[in-house]
Amino acid sequence: MYSIEKSHKLDNVCYDIRGPVLKEANRLEEEGHRVIKLNIGNPAPFGFEAPEEIVKDVIHNLPLSQGYCDSKGLYSARKAVMQHYQQKGLLDVSIDDIYLGNGVSELIMMSMQALLNNGDEILVPSPDYPLWTAAITLSGGKATHYICDEESDWYPDLDDIKAKITPNTKGIVLINPNNPTGAVYSKEFLLEVIEVARENKLIIFADEIYDKILYDGVEHVPMCTLAQDILIVTFNGLSKAYRIAGFRSGWLVLSGATHLAKDYIAGLEMLASMRLCSNVPMQHAIQTALGGYQSINELILPGGRLLEQRDLAWKMLNDIPGITCVKPKGAMYLFPKIDMEMYNIKDDQKFALDLLQQEKLLIVQGTGFNWGRPDHFRVVFLPRVEELTIAINKLANFLKTYRQD
Ligand code: PLP
Repeated sequence: MYSIEKSHKLDNVCYDIRGPVLKEANRLEEEGHRVIKLNIGNPAPFGFEAPEEIVKDVIHNLPLSQGYCDSKGLYSARKAVMQHYQQKGLLDVSIDDIYLGNGVSELIMMSMQALLNNGDEILVPSPDYPLWTAAITLSGGKATHYICDEESDWYPDLDDIKAKITPNTKGIVLINPNNPTGAVYSKEFLLEVIEVARENKLIIFADEIYDKILYDGVEHVPMCTLAQDILIVTFNGLSKAYRIAGFRSGWLVLSGATHLAKDYIAGLEMLASMRLCSNVPMQHAIQTALGGYQSINELILPGGRLLEQRDLAWKMLNDIPGITCVKPKGAMYLFPKIDMEMYNIKDDQKFALDLLQQEKLLIVQGTGFNWGRPDHFRVVFLPRVEELTIAINKLANFLKTYRQD
């Protein structure tokens, strides 16, 4: 007998959004239970389907997409991305600065693998979208988590950021609008982060995949439009605002001090070449999506489904004794806090499993987002109000008797 073991490179890599609790949910479903899933930001299964013109365009272009394309992506799609950023105010950008990927996920991995040597550090928010921490760790780097402050609408704590910079720090990740907190950062705050990056020669990695999912009239300011003298790497794609997460279509834009990053860029090009190219049919969706009717607006303005669902979920959660939740200004998640004295939760994965087993409701525990205490969880507000009402009532019912002693 012998056993085949995974690489030690994976020893500290976690991705709990699809971790053990999801496995248990799948098992329960196989047993015939109906599980309400508030665990993942995947719009299409909740009836948020892609605008028809995007799907039609992909189908139309399918016969023309049989071969590999340029490793960085189709010219037409990259040109559409370039023009999109030019319209936002980033004038110094060329088609060469744009890389298309199989979702932002692949590009996050590439951006870290091309950069990090063992021991290099990247500042990452806590809570974070955990792929960032996982990608850094897998690339041999160290994710140093800076605190986002719930008391200040989940804004990152600048003093904490500054205190955690060391000679090994290469960059800082900013997720704006934020997953899981829903925070959207002001221009003034982004300028402060830029100043810190400037002083410490840090690269800014701006994950802006939710930039069009905004509520209450807040505006999103693209990081790349605010500085030309430091390197900014922006990530975005079609998974969320255009609801085609399954198509796996995203982009990365290099801007600012690209002249200082020739070697890093050569590394990125090498990694892009090694995977030959991203899925070609789905690259065709980019031009139509960016240039077409922005149907997301119907969903986030008053009367729109997403807005209504956010308001309902937020209010119902806050009405549960011992639960408090900051109102998200963007994205599609809530990250509520659980009163530890009331429920005495020591292990939040156990909390998520107990909730799943008792109520057949799937959420993700806060520590899955590299949050340091077991006192938060994330829910997705994609289901319709009827389903959300049932789900949050189940949570309230569960909490009436729950205590981890
Ligand atoms: N970045 C953030 C903040 C996300 O929330 C997600 C998906 O949930 C991604 C990146 C990955 O997106 P993609 O589907 O483009 O790989």
